[in-house]
Amino acid sequence: MKIKLNSIPVGIHKIALSKDVRDFGLQAPFFGNADVEVKVDRSEHQIVLSCNFVTQLLLNCDRCLAEYEQKVSGDFTVIYLAERIDEEIDDTNVYELTPDLTYIDLTQDFYDFINLSVPLKHICSEDCKGLCPTCGANLNIETCECESEKVNPIWEPLLKLKKDLND
Ligand SMILES: [Zn+2]
Ligand SMILES: [Zn+2]
Repeated sequence: MKIKLNSIPVGIHKIALSKDVRDFGLQAPFFGNADVEVKVDRSEHQIVLSCNFVTQLLLNCDRCLAEYEQKVSGDFTVIYLAERIDEEIDDTNVYELTPDLTYIDLTQDFYDFINLSVPLKHICSEDCKGLCPTCGANLNIETCECESEKVNPIWEPLLKLKKDLND
């Protein structure tokens, strides 16, 4: 996503667009479009870009393995400063606004931040019941008989004791 600087006078501007995730270099599990919005605040010596995105993922649930879609969104700020950037500044989102800069390309920034929005855990729903460890039934859509045969490990010593006493 490129913003031509000669089309951005001093002031606040809003740019919104919806583009295929692949235009940002994103691959699966991202799919469809990414809706992005950039508020450009340009002053004499700096440009502050407040960026925002909404897109979606096609994931497989870690618990029940079913495929599900998840919306992800986020925001970040990119700053271009006319003064020389102090090497000490450890902020990767601050760039130097050099006089020969004709456009700002936010493609890489969107790529990085959108990638960071992928959750570590993939759970289709907070109360996903997962698969039965014995028969593999998806407990979200069916029940199986295995559950009743399972013994709570807390009672195992007691059952053993009872058995020993009976012997
Ligand atoms: Zn699930
Ligand atoms: Zn089962």
